[in-house]
Amino acid sequence: MQASDFSTIELSADMVANLTALNYTTMTPIQAKSLPLILQGKDVIAQAKTGSGKTVAFGVGLLSQVKAERCETQALILCPTRELAEQVSKEIRKLARTMPNLRVVCLSGGVPLASQLASLASGAHVVVGTPGRVDDHLRRKSLCVENMRILVLDEADRMLEMGFQDIIAEILAVLPEKRQTLLFSATYPDSVLSMSQHMQRNPVQIEVVETAEELLIKQLFYSVKTEDKCRILALLLLEQKPEAALVFCNTKQDCKEICEFLKKKGFSVREIHGDLDQRERNEVLVQFSNRSLSILVATDVAARGIDIKDLPLVINFSLSKDPHVHVHRIGRTGRAGKEGLAISLYSGQEEFRMKQICEYQKTKIERGVITSEKALSERPSYPPMQTLYLQAGRKNKLRAGDVLGALTAVGGIAAADVGKIDLFDTYCYVAVKRSVAAKALDLILTGKTKGRSIKARYM
Ligand code: ADP
Ligand code: MG
Repeated sequence: MQASDFSTIELSADMVANLTALNYTTMTPIQAKSLPLILQGKDVIAQAKTGSGKTVAFGVGLLSQVKAERCETQALILCPTRELAEQVSKEIRKLARTMPNLRVVCLSGGVPLASQLASLASGAHVVVGTPGRVDDHLRRKSLCVENMRILVLDEADRMLEMGFQDIIAEILAVLPEKRQTLLFSATYPDSVLSMSQHMQRNPVQIEVVETAEELLIKQLFYSVKTEDKCRILALLLLEQKPEAALVFCNTKQDCKEICEFLKKKGFSVREIHGDLDQRERNEVLVQFSNRSLSILVATDVAARGIDIKDLPLVINFSLSKDPHVHVHRIGRTGRAGKEGLAISLYSGQEEFRMKQICEYQKTKIERGVITSEKALSERPSYPPMQTLYLQAGRKNKLRAGDVLGALTAVGGIAAADVGKIDLFDTYCYVAVKRSVAAKALDLILTGKTKGRSIKARYM
């Protein structure tokens, strides 16, 4: 028996037998971390990548608390899409095989209401559904949630991305306040954090971060004197020529100094830390993610909750004192199938941190060596894209398609030269290939976007 076997936690004998029959004997890391807390009735925020076994985590957790003899809806699971709602219902039914009278009903959009009304009328212990359809049933009073004790938001990040926050708020308003709320998500952006603050009570936050090896991250550690760090950072950036790089430092002060230094050397660089207001923060993130800004210098606090990943290069200007934070930092470069590079600079004073990190990761250190500083005489390359700022947004009924249309109309630029379009309430950012930026700006200024001319400028 292993420490993470399902049989080591407090589950009914039937449940353990069923899990074994389903070939689930050992808990996945997210299950091992979240299940004991869920069984204690705690509110939990659980974050782990897709495919890590989150459904079984909340499925077993809620089924262990549902009372089959009481024919009332005791648990509600919200999922972003119809397919997911169906998949989750199926999995929960499998997990409930040994609970004979337990009924799981799926309420997803796109299915005739009549059959759902009939299923609800004959009783549902667990309801799985998409927000829109669940809200529909609540309004019709065909779904009664008076005795609901557990609410699960599966793929919370995706639900927010899909714009479900208002409907979810409406559903929440009619749920009993005394309940357990579980939030599962693959990522943990600020929006999920604020959602948690609205609906959970003293939530315990857990997270499973993949190891550098799982993520195909190559790590190099450079021993560098503190006073040489800025120069070596510039050298490494000039050698690597990354399309985008995230540089981490431990303090706001460092952040500002490094950014200033790199700017003087001609790099495309900006900083992000706690002093920026929301608008500046958005601007920096938009530019960095649409590839019109090459280097972002960040503190951990500022980088937390922002969804920047798949980067070719992450550099630790200073090592974190927390090995867990280090793993988190370098995880930003883990990319689907492609190798990412994480470079860490450490001074003599930071050597013990370096050792702690390696011990924590159980990896042998690979040291980087500087053989020549020749690259320092080169010019930094420009980022591939440039951002245009358009003075119109959602409130002006502007859509991404309108902007794309204006840029690619007859005589315009190729669609392949248009990058990310980020729409806000009163303004919009669009990335275009640097080589066609002047033409793109002209097209917006002199042409018609959605039948009218829009004020615009380079950002
Ligand atoms: P997630 O929701 O985190 O993306 P899923 O819940 O869909 O992941 O699970 C992914 C796969 O892992 C499913 O096929 C599931 O059957 C399987 N799985 C889940 N838990 C276990 C376990 N403890 N042992 C073996 N396989 C598991
Ligand atoms: Mg899932």
